[in-house]
Order: sequence, then C-alpha cells, then structure tokens
Amino acid sequence: MAFDLSVYPWVYMAKYEHDTWSDSYIEKPHKTPQEEAALSPDERQTLLRTRNSFPELPLVNYTTQYGMGCFEGLKAFPHKDGSMHLFRPDENAARFKKSMEGLMMPAFPEDMFVHGVAETVRRNNSLGFRPVYDPAWEKTHFIDGHAVYVRPFSYSEPAIGLGLSKEPWVVAVSTPVGSYFRPGNTKAVTTDKVRAYPGGTGWIKCDANYVVPILAKKTAEKKGFMEAIFLDAAEHTYIEEGSSCNIFFYLKNGTLVTPDLADTILPGITRKSVLTLAQDLGISTEERKISIDEALSDGREVFVTGTAAGISHFESITHKGTTVPFGNGNMGEVTTALCRKLKGIQYGAEEDIHQWMVRV
Ligand SMILES: *Cc1c(COP(=O)(O)O)cnc(C)c1O
Repeated sequence: MAFDLSVYPWVYMAKYEHDTWSDSYIEKPHKTPQEEAALSPDERQTLLRTRNSFPELPLVNYTTQYGMGCFEGLKAFPHKDGSMHLFRPDENAARFKKSMEGLMMPAFPEDMFVHGVAETVRRNNSLGFRPVYDPAWEKTHFIDGHAVYVRPFSYSEPAIGLGLSKEPWVVAVSTPVGSYFRPGNTKAVTTDKVRAYPGGTGWIKCDANYVVPILAKKTAEKKGFMEAIFLDAAEHTYIEEGSSCNIFFYLKNGTLVTPDLADTILPGITRKSVLTLAQDLGISTEERKISIDEALSDGREVFVTGTAAGISHFESITHKGTTVPFGNGNMGEVTTALCRKLKGIQYGAEEDIHQWMVRV
C-alpha cells in the first residue's frame, strides 16, 4: 500500500515580503484522531493527502528545481503529567537562521521560529493530535518512546532560472514518530562516496546535502548494513559522519571522541548535548580529527547522534572488507548511560539541569 505521510492538522506558515516576515497558522482538514483511526485505508489516504497539499505554494521554484532550501528537525516529547516539551528549540532556531544566511536568503527570526513551532505543537495537542505518554516506555528507558517530530523548512518563491530566494516561505509541519532505527541489524560500513567537501555546504542543514547520503545509505542497506559512514573528501582517512547523524567513538583509553566541527560537519544539537552529558558523567571528551584506522583499533563503543536517531550504537564497522565489532556487539556501557540520560531528560524522567526542555 502507498505510504502516506501523516501530517498533523495545524501547520505553521511564514512569508518574507516587503522586507518583513509575517506568519499564520493553517488548520488543514481533519476529524478527531479517533475518527481518523477508524477510517478505511482509502478514506484515510484521501484525508492525509489533503493535509499534505499546499495549493498556495508554487511547485516550480529554486527549492524544487535546484535544492535551494534548508530545514530543521526537532521533537516535542510527552511527559507523564500530560504536558509537551520541545528539546532545545532555540538551538534549532539559531541553526536555521545560519542555514538561511548560508543560502543567501533573508534569515528567519529566531523568536518567530521558537514561538511558531511551540504554538503549532500546542494547537495540534489541543485537537488531540499528540502521542500519549506510556509508562511502559520507562522500562526501556524510552528507547521506544514516541514523540512529535516538527519539520520547519524554507521554500522559495516561483522561479525557473538560477538565482537566490529573496522572498521565501518558512513552513513547519509535524508528524508523530516512534523509534527511527529498526531493532536488529546495527552494522555500519564505510562508503567511498563523499557527503561534503571543504568549501562546500556540509555545514548547512540544506536539502542539497541529502542526495549523496541517501544513495550511500540505501547502497549500504542493499549489502546488509544499516548505515553508511562517510570519510573526508581529500584523504579518505578521517571519519566525518553517518548518513545524517554525527558520530562518536568511546575509546579504550576512556575518552569520548567526535570529529571537530569544520565546514564539512553538520553542527548537531544532539552532538552538542551529548558532549555536555558526557562531561556531566565525568567522561573526558575530545573534538578532533579521528582516522578510520584509529577508530577501528582503539574504539570500544561507537554511536551516532541526531534528532531522529537519538543515540544509536553500531555493533560493527566494516571497512575495506574487514569487520570490527564494537561493544561486544551490544549497546556499550557508556552509550547506554548517555542514551538513558538524554532520553530521561527529554521525557521528563531525569532532572533537566541544563534547562533544555521548553514546555509548549
Ligand atoms: C540534522 C543532521 C545531524 C543531526 O543534527 P541534530 O541537531 O542532532 O538533529 C547530523 N548530521 C547531518 C548531516 C544532519 O543533517
């Protein structure tokens, strides 16, 4: 059956025109969540298609033709008391602004971003479109917890020639999400493909960066792996990222290492948070270049981080035909501790000492 994206009814939309941003909320067609759940597959498909249809937006433009667009991904988490909490939306707002500047577009104000996202989650929440906190998640430390995924993105004005978007829209849709990586296979493999190169757009969370990683990930999956790991463009020696996540190695000497941010590494908010949490746990951290050889010989645990992935470990890495296991094939001790801490804060089970969560 065709997969229809389940977009929640309330959508945020802002537009830059006459040197200012103005915004609004759009209520797309919907029934109650219970009524929608009872629809036949065909009826449900028809309804969801109207929800993901925006006749007010032009089809032919710089974004759809040339990939001139950027986006964000952030989550709102249900807490036990029924409230919903966004994780570090100010960080996403700041990165989105940088991305738009990187694509030479008028930047979207950070306060509008945070307010717009929170209000969209709140409105959907009021209609009952929200995941319900399940105490059973506590047993697995929220590894299988559900959340609202919010996807704000830029979208250009109508155009067909080469040019910059001068009057973009910013749209934010949201969808329910469960866990990202299917349990089972957590094998990773290095890829010869190049995600980012010095002087390129690797540091921007832009549409154009996703083509190569998707091809690499799907190629890896065909060979029986879950994920592809990118090495640097120039020497093909240093580890960069997973297909859309930052990467960490916990070394045998007790240090947690992640590649330092240059213009080929995306500054992940989960990455930044994990560095803080590791320091809280008394683990020494280093942001530096790490070669694939060092990682394979000195690494004890390996995991990737991202809003969608959370913290996901790899049981092994295959490089040039050799497979090296990590964490005895399971999620290692340090990875587990960091994952529990992060998810605990997100779902309100651990004290939020850094005040990362924003109640909507
Ligand atoms: C979004 C993204 C990440 C993860 O960033 P988070 O802020 O942690 O979600 C990592 N790498 C790439 C290439 C990304 O696009």
